[in-house]
Amino acid sequence: MLQIRFDNTYAREMEGLYVPWQGLKAPAPEMLLLNRALADDLGLDPDALLSPAGLDMLSGSAMPEGAHPLAMAYAGHQFGGFSPQLGDGRALLVGEVIDRAGTRRDIHLKGSGRTPFSRGGDGKAALGPVLREYIVGEAMHALGVPTTRALAAVATGETVYRETPLPGAVLARVATSHLRVGSFQFLLARGDHARLRRLADYAIDRHYPDLAGQDGRYLGLLQGVADRQAALVAQWMALGFVHGVMNTDNCTISGETIDYGPCAFIDGYDPQALFSSIDQTGRYAYGNQPVLIQWNLARLAETLLPLIAPKNPEDALPDARAVIDAIPRHYAEARRARFGAKLGIAAPGQRDEALIDGFLALLAEVQADFTQSFRALIPAAGGDDGPLRAHLDAAKGLDGWLAQWRSRIGPGAAVAMASANPVYIPRNHLVEGALADANDGNLDTTRRLLDALSSPYTRRDGFEAHEGPAPAGFGPYVTFCGT
Ligand code: AMP
Ligand code: MG
Repeated sequence: MLQIRFDNTYAREMEGLYVPWQGLKAPAPEMLLLNRALADDLGLDPDALLSPAGLDMLSGSAMPEGAHPLAMAYAGHQFGGFSPQLGDGRALLVGEVIDRAGTRRDIHLKGSGRTPFSRGGDGKAALGPVLREYIVGEAMHALGVPTTRALAAVATGETVYRETPLPGAVLARVATSHLRVGSFQFLLARGDHARLRRLADYAIDRHYPDLAGQDGRYLGLLQGVADRQAALVAQWMALGFVHGVMNTDNCTISGETIDYGPCAFIDGYDPQALFSSIDQTGRYAYGNQPVLIQWNLARLAETLLPLIAPKNPEDALPDARAVIDAIPRHYAEARRARFGAKLGIAAPGQRDEALIDGFLALLAEVQADFTQSFRALIPAAGGDDGPLRAHLDAAKGLDGWLAQWRSRIGPGAAVAMASANPVYIPRNHLVEGALADANDGNLDTTRRLLDALSSPYTRRDGFEAHEGPAPAGFGPYVTFCGT
């Protein structure tokens, strides 16, 4: 029996920011992947999710008692241009549950059919992108990055038409909320300051409860989101992660990474690595992510001005600007902490920036593998340079850098470094290989990859093939949006 105790605050409190909606009936829903551990965290019975009623919910076909399926409305800047009307064009918020830790979580579907926000789209998702989001999202979680999670991937039994006919699927995604910068922009664009205030208070209750009821809470909200997003992007950078589509509708209020569409991980280090086919100007390249997060937060600030200073929003500008102006400093601190940990420096200070930048310069000089080169620092800290030299021997200045670094690290460095430098990341060629096999009806490669990625900081026998960069024949990697 599928029994879920929903408590749907968004549906109750955020009228005007959604349309009640139902999913499309999937002709032949079939469970492809079920995240039993996450189901358990959510207080859901994994076996009930496998029942016909569970499959109906997870495919969007029919909802259990207590669900309040709806399509969320939002706006957003996409590649810098403002779209006042986006919204869940192929997604549904099923409802909210309180997990075992007491945290409110959204259960959300992607690929569940057309909605009033679909514009020209078909409302569907193909198997490949659904599995990609499943794999990368779960990998990010295991790597310690705040992120939406994947609860299940369900095949619909339908064919989805992209360039070629593809199997259709639905992703069941879990997040602490789906509030975005674009949610606020939707209401500002309509001049609806009353709802904007309700949304800000709702976001505060859900994500920044310490601010609730306080006088300066709207500026506090801006500060809170800015802090979390700056810290998040520092984590992305320290893992060589390129999100690929940092539009304001993909920028969460919770500080969780969302929407694994055209994302990719760097193999050979290039500070301006770019993978997305539609990003012609390189707006969302690896090295631009810290700049773009400030840009996105400035868009959030604009929406909060009328709440911070209702009589004259311009009066709020100096305070809001101070928060935005401080983002690069907060990012730099978070970056220094993350990269310092990767180098085994316990409490990195300003003077360690040169060591961090120096190592990255060595990587860039020879396009060394980002993940493996950092991991090779662990034996190097213990005196064995071999693995590091295998990656960086051709880089001029390696010896000088090594000498400086050795004089800076303490005896326990290697232990700490092992939890900052992963062995396994969802490398592009591994993800593509898994998706290709899945499209041929074989999910074994995906399951094996998920296994490798589930404990990314521990090397395990049998997973050697999951460690290294793409073989030479893989070629330059290109990702696609709007899938
Ligand atoms: P994304 O790039 O996935 O963040 O999506 C941007 C916007 O396009 C959102 O409003 C999505 O709901 C919408 N969208 C993306 N793919 C589809 C699709 N196949 N059908 C309908 N809407 C879509
Ligand atoms: Mg999106």
